[in-house]
Formats: sequence, C-alpha cells, structure tokens
Amino acid sequence: MSIAENISCVRGRIAAAARRAGRNQAEITLMGVSKTFPAECIREAYAAGLRVFGENRVQEYAAKALALRDLRDAEWHLIGHLQTNKALKAAELFDAVDAVDSVKLAERLNAAAEKSGKTLAVLIEINVGGEAAKSGVAPDSDELEQILQGAPQWDKLRIRGLMTVPPYTDDAEGSRPYFRQLRQIRDRITERVLPRIEMAVLSMGMSHDFEIAVEEEATCVRVGTAIFGSRR
Ligand SMILES: *Cc1c(COP(=O)(O)O)cnc(C)c1O
Repeated sequence: MSIAENISCVRGRIAAAARRAGRNQAEITLMGVSKTFPAECIREAYAAGLRVFGENRVQEYAAKALALRDLRDAEWHLIGHLQTNKALKAAELFDAVDAVDSVKLAERLNAAAEKSGKTLAVLIEINVGGEAAKSGVAPDSDELEQILQGAPQWDKLRIRGLMTVPPYTDDAEGSRPYFRQLRQIRDRITERVLPRIEMAVLSMGMSHDFEIAVEEEATCVRVGTAIFGSRR
C-alpha cells in the first residue's frame, strides 16, 4: 500500500474509534512520525493531506528541514528526548517540543525560544510505566510539580498538555490503563487551574494502539509504521 492509502486507512480507523467513544474525530490530530524516513516520504504524506509531523532527533531533522522548507504550513514536532545542549538548535528548527521532562530543559528551551524570536508549544512527557529506560517525568514527582509551578517564568513556552509512551505490550489493550492514567493526570492538573498551563493536548497512541488511545481521549496520535512502513 502507498503512503496515501495508509493515511486514509489510519484516518478511517481513527474515525471508527472516535465514533465508538462518542467523540468528534475533528478533535484528533494525526501526527505522522517520519523518523528514519527520507524527505520524499514526508512529501508524499504531505501531498496526501498530512500536516503534522514528528521527528525524534534534532540532527536527523535538520537535513530534512532544508529539503522540505517549501511545505510552509507543515508543523514539526520534536517527540524524542532532548539534551539541554541541543535546545537552541531544537528551538530554531521545530514548532513544538513534545517531550519536556525537566525544569532544566524547560528553562533552556525558554531561553532558546527567546533567542530565536519565537514561541514554542511544548508538552510535558510523563513516564506512566515508570520504566528506567524511558524518559519522561514520574507522575507524582517533585519534578512534575516544579515544571507546573515554573510555567509563569517561561513566557516563550506554551505548555499545551501531556505526552506519554507506555510500556510496550503485544496486546494493544495493555496500553489502556496507562492511557487512562495520563488522562487522569491531565484532569487533576486541569482542576487546579494553574497559571499559564493549558491541558488541551493529550498525545498518546502509536501504530499498534492508537485506537485504544482515541477511546481514552487522545487529542493527538503519533503514527509512524502504519503510515510509512517498517523503519530500516
Ligand atoms: C517512533 C515513535 C512513534 C511512532 O511509533 P510507531 O510504532 O512506528 O507508530 C510515536 N511516538 C514516539 C515518541 C516515537 O518515538
């Protein structure tokens, strides 16, 4: 199947999951995760109507950004872990950083966004499974609390919501409790009405479990393999 056919199939499955959950599919953004795929594949997805893309490495995207700068209304998200020393490059290249997992990174990104003369949309990444190998802040950690409290100081960041990558399970249903947990964390933060904290975005769900994520109120699903094929 072509990239265009894959996108249309994924969109159909999102729509069906949204119907099951009584949701409006217009609330759900399909992000194409294009890491490891060349610029031509991204161009093909863009031609098929995709506008939001996720890349996980600053260096890898830098080369593609040059080749794709004519796609003016495409939106680029960094979805992988970011080292603080690459914050400036990331702020220059991306529209959004979806994996903020420390106060230090938020501080650096705010300074970097200021220098680049832009506002950066960001998500806080939560490590719902508590896996040592995964990035993200722990659900009830001081670090999360400090990020939430720090927001008023970072006027170049728009904290728009939460993102997570749950532990992998062969059965997509295995992701459901983690998606639910992320939603509950969002609800608790929303109730507190904190200054400069928006909780409109819930980024969760990948190729194997995005339908479950939609049922659990995802507003953004990050799909790589089911659109572009297996990564090499
Ligand atoms: C690679 C990646 C995805 C996409 O994974 P697929 O299983 O290929 O859909 C989504 N989110 C993050 C953070 C990723 O690194």
